[in-house]
Amino acid sequence: MTAYRGRFAPSPTGALHLGSAAAALFCAAAAMQARGTLVLRMEDIDRPRVVPGAAEALLDDLAWLGLRWDESSAQGGPFAPYVQSERLALYEAAIEQLAARGFVYYCDCSRAEIARVASAPHAGEEGPRYPGTCRPFGMQKRDFRRPPAVRLAVPDDDRAIVTVHDRVLGTYTEHVGHVTGDFVLRRGDGVFAYQLVVVVDDLHMQITDVVRGGDLASSSARQILLARLLGGAPPTFAHVPLLVADDGSRLAKRDKLMPLHDHRAAGRDPRALVRAIARAYGHDVGDADAPLEALAASLDWSRLPRESVRVSAIVAR
Ligand code: GLU
Repeated sequence: MTAYRGRFAPSPTGALHLGSAAAALFCAAAAMQARGTLVLRMEDIDRPRVVPGAAEALLDDLAWLGLRWDESSAQGGPFAPYVQSERLALYEAAIEQLAARGFVYYCDCSRAEIARVASAPHAGEEGPRYPGTCRPFGMQKRDFRRPPAVRLAVPDDDRAIVTVHDRVLGTYTEHVGHVTGDFVLRRGDGVFAYQLVVVVDDLHMQITDVVRGGDLASSSARQILLARLLGGAPPTFAHVPLLVADDGSRLAKRDKLMPLHDHRAAGRDPRALVRAIARAYGHDVGDADAPLEALAASLDWSRLPRESVRVSAIVAR
């Protein structure tokens, strides 16, 4: 059996909030339960969205919660996370590897053009399914109307039909070609896309198990497909349900209950917060002194709610 290797991969684009804390806790508990290795990866690839100081604040908040990770990037010294902005050559190499096999192409379509010709709107955040307008041109340099993105040419055969085994959401099948179509690997502004960098890093770090927030569940099929096209073995997934406001709406960034540093500033005992999160997610650890260890000992994915969790289950208003 392959040894368990998990990762927590926050983006330093803002403060750690309760929802990401819940995902981080289950991520750490799962690695602990499997006596595996947990890697921390700072996903700062989207430089324009990085907030100065956010990476340091995230590390502080995770440490306050009692989270520890087991491995450091070679350059960073003890307990330094892997940092995506230091790994650009790997992402470039992955695109070249795909290009050599004809799996990528330049695309200079604008969002408005895509929206106009798209047949079915895609429910995800990345807009409608891309209809493949630029696919026939491949990687040929032509007279681009704007700096081109690089897209994956999703295979037209059965490889596009991906079965996902999610420990929380169950097993389902997605036809990537029908749902998202050819997705972006590098944006027109040169930034490598989340889908690419996550897959390259997970393969490179030999991650066996991904535990993360439920908002990313719609990426699993694309990531499995991409991992396979890069010749690797995709990890297993577990998506921790999102924390929502009490009326069911998405938690607003300005919600005072969200950032962990507010709980710290209010002098809250981090163990009480960990117990409250565990309980809200189906794991009552009583008044355990070491709640993360207790969660790890009792972790059972079938006890997690399938739907979102109300924030008032964790903090009283
Ligand atoms: N960096 C992503 C985020 O903070 C998570 C990536 C992942 O876990 O796949 O939303």
